[in-house]
Amino acid sequence: ENNATAEKIVLITGASSGIGKATALLLAKKGAHVVLGARRTDRLEAIASDIQAEGGSVAYRTLDVTNLEQMQAFVNFAQEKFGRIDAIVNNAGVMPLSKLEVLKIEEWNRMIDVNIRGVLHGIAAGLPLMQQQGWGQFINLSSIAGHAVYPTAAVYCATKFAAIAISEGLRQEVSNIRVTVISPGVTESELADSISDDTARQGMQDFRRIAIPPEAIARAITFAIEQPNDVDVSEIIVRPTASP
Ligand code: NDP
Repeated sequence: ENNATAEKIVLITGASSGIGKATALLLAKKGAHVVLGARRTDRLEAIASDIQAEGGSVAYRTLDVTNLEQMQAFVNFAQEKFGRIDAIVNNAGVMPLSKLEVLKIEEWNRMIDVNIRGVLHGIAAGLPLMQQQGWGQFINLSSIAGHAVYPTAAVYCATKFAAIAISEGLRQEVSNIRVTVISPGVTESELADSISDDTARQGMQDFRRIAIPPEAIARAITFAIEQPNDVDVSEIIVRPTASP
């Protein structure tokens, strides 16, 4: 196993399904101590017992990333449990797509709260501790939607552009702390389940056919974590080979 990953303490938000879950399983297999957060605690419990059954090291805690206090409690929990934190994967995200003219304002706000505020809360909760330690790593999930805008995806894209801007700003401002953006193309997960708009849902069908497995993204995240500490993988774009 890779020594650079073994024994690292890695916090993962949105670890109850999709990319977060696949990342937790892969990192635990490589000997990391993984700390899982999400709202569906029953899912986290099941994932944690699978990891433990394989001899892995895991802890989990209920987490709503839109709530700064819960995020701080999540980071504190990891530190108390394992003594430090080596990386936070700000992975939690939602994607209820629709055209702007449909005015699904609650859904816009939810995307802003989870996909932008959630990332900022992860930084707010983890950065002081990382600065105290003198090391740490943020891995923030953007998307190919952080590089281009698609119809029905204006707000979602805005949140993923924001994830890149925030990550780049953080990278420039801090030293000794690594900042990584992971930008997946369409990946098998529960992400599109949150689309309530019929047109947007149908538009996703073609894309979902070419989706790559979440393990592909987990490998990219792991690659960024297992580099030596003086190497910062700033961004990895991972997308399906096929086009829709
Ligand atoms: P999933 O829907 O499978 O997973 C999303 C995770 O986010 C779930 O574990 C969910 O857990 C969690 N989550 C949602 N809201 C909150 C909240 N308020 N607090 C804490 N956790 C929350 O989708 P993916 O695995 O695909 O998504 C992971 C990330 O990857 C997202 O940021 C997404 O934007 C990004 N991405 C995904 C792509 C894809 O094609 N799948 C492409 C590009 C980027 P719970 O509901 O239990 O809280």
